[in-house]
Amino acid sequence: MDIRRILGLPDVLEVKKIVCVQPHPDDNEVGAAGTIYELAQRGCEIVYITVTDGRGSGSTGEIEPEAIAAIRRQERLAAGDILGVSKHIALDLPDMGNYTEEELLAKLIPIIREEKPDMLFTVDPWMPYEAHPDHIKTGKAVASAMLFSSNEILFPGSKPYDVPQIAFYATSHPNTFIDVTSHWETKMASILAHKSQFDHVNWPLVKGYFDYQAVQMYGKLKQDPEAKGYAEAFKVLTSHQLHFFPSALYS
Ligand SMILES: [Zn+2]
Repeated sequence: MDIRRILGLPDVLEVKKIVCVQPHPDDNEVGAAGTIYELAQRGCEIVYITVTDGRGSGSTGEIEPEAIAAIRRQERLAAGDILGVSKHIALDLPDMGNYTEEELLAKLIPIIREEKPDMLFTVDPWMPYEAHPDHIKTGKAVASAMLFSSNEILFPGSKPYDVPQIAFYATSHPNTFIDVTSHWETKMASILAHKSQFDHVNWPLVKGYFDYQAVQMYGKLKQDPEAKGYAEAFKVLTSHQLHFFPSALYS
């Protein structure tokens, strides 16, 4: 049973507005830049929400966390310009801060109600072995926000909105593969816009890993492991599948 078909929901590349919620300033690019760029080319409106300011990354002790956060803000804007992001919302929570999932949920709901996306994008918090609290809290808070944005009783104060679909990237259980072969260099450029994170001696190794993963996903898309190309993988679900829906894992 394909619940998305029954509900008449559009495919990923047919949506008109997306909100991409990333734990750190570079996660959207690593997870979904090719698809985001393709959507922007098709006229889709792209909004980014960035949960943390990235101050905890790449510190060598030679630079203050506030300075790292400022650098990462500029890198985030530059990456968004490459992809066609039209709006940035920064929650500016600290990396590994002691914010709770519930606090993040309360921040996300009014924004989602205001932006009214056709589809949310975020990290998959149920990826086995994911150990980073920012990723787990962000993915879960976004999923909960999808459930409760339509609930005015539990979350009063702004007009309810029902988000139709969500696409989790960095997922171990993908059900949707997007061909991003023609956008691969653009994706790499958007990742390299995060100079403080990727423009270093290990970049060839990191890029090799990204290439390998995307080639594997392309093989799944074409159902041919020898196929040559790059794809991004997502777990696309409806709000119905985010509660009491055991088969969501296999959909
Ligand atoms: Zn991250």
